[in-house]
Amino acid sequence: MKVLVADDSATSRQMLRAALAKWGYEVVLAENGAEAWDILAEPDAPPMAILDWVMPHMTGPDVCRRVRETRREPYTYILLLTSKNTKGETVEGLEAGADDYIVKPFDQHELQVRLRAGKRIIDLQMDLMKAREELRERANKDLLTMLPNRSAISNALRQEISRCHRDRRTVGVILLDLDHFKKINDSYGHFAGDAVLRETATRLRSNMRPYDQVGRYGGEEFLVVLPNCDLEQASNQAERMRHKLEASNMVVDGIELTISASFGVTVSDGSERNPDIFVRVADEALYRAKASGRNCVSKLTLEDSSHRSAV
Ligand SMILES: [Mg+2]
Repeated sequence: MKVLVADDSATSRQMLRAALAKWGYEVVLAENGAEAWDILAEPDAPPMAILDWVMPHMTGPDVCRRVRETRREPYTYILLLTSKNTKGETVEGLEAGADDYIVKPFDQHELQVRLRAGKRIIDLQMDLMKAREELRERANKDLLTMLPNRSAISNALRQEISRCHRDRRTVGVILLDLDHFKKINDSYGHFAGDAVLRETATRLRSNMRPYDQVGRYGGEEFLVVLPNCDLEQASNQAERMRHKLEASNMVVDGIELTISASFGVTVSDGSERNPDIFVRVADEALYRAKASGRNCVSKLTLEDSSHRSAV
C-alpha cells in the first residue's frame, strides 16, 4: 500500500521513509503542504497520508480540509504528525478531517500499529467499493443469459434515441420472441428452456455490429437496439437474426430442438423521444409477425401504428 509522507524536516522524512519501507509500505515523499496536496489530488493518489502539522505553504490540517472538501473516492486515511499535544490542537486536527494523530517524537511501534489500523479501514473501504460495483453490475444483468436485463437495455435504448436525435439519425428497434417456447419448457423441462435462452443470446450476440446492443426484455423476449439504422436496415438485421436461430438445431441434453423466433421491427423518428413508445410499436409489429404464422419479420413505423395517436 502506498503512503504519502509529508514533512518539511529532511531528517523526519528519512526516518519515516525507512520505518515505513521496513513495514512493507511504498513511500511517496513531499516536502511541504502544497506538494502533499498536489500528490493527493492525483487520480491514483496514495490511500494513506502522514502529514506533518507545521509545514510551509499549507499546514497538515489545511491539506486535510482540502482533501475532505473534495469528498473523493477511494477515501484517503490521514494521520497528522504533531509536536503539539494539547487538547485544543488535537481537536483542531480531528476537526480538519484527520482520522488519527501521533505526537512527535513518536514511538515506532505505536506508529506501526496506528498505520495498521488505517490500512484496515482502507481495505474495508476497497471491499465495499468492489461489492458495490458488483451489485451495480448484477443489477443491470440478466444472470441466465448474461445479457443486459430489461431495465439496462431500456436505458440503452433511451440513451441511443437521445444521442441519435441530436445527430439527426434514427435508431432501429427489434423486439423478438421465441416461438412456442412454452412447449419447450413443458416437454423438456425448465433446464432445457434455460439452455435454449442462453444459446439464443449467444446467437443473437454473435450476429451484431459491435455498437449494437441486445438485452433480455422478458421471459423469452429480447430487445435489440441498432444505432444509426433505418427501418430497412433494421429489418435486414432482424432477418439475419431470424435465419441464425432457425439455421441449425439447438442441442440440449442430447436432444435436438428446432428453434425459431418472430420479430417486430420499428425505427425511432425525430418527433418522438420516449423509448417506451418504440418498444410498443415493435411489440405491435411482433404481434403481426406471430399472427402471420411466426418465424418471420414484421416491420412497422410509428406513423402506421396504433400508437400514433398516443404521441
Ligand atoms: Mg514541520
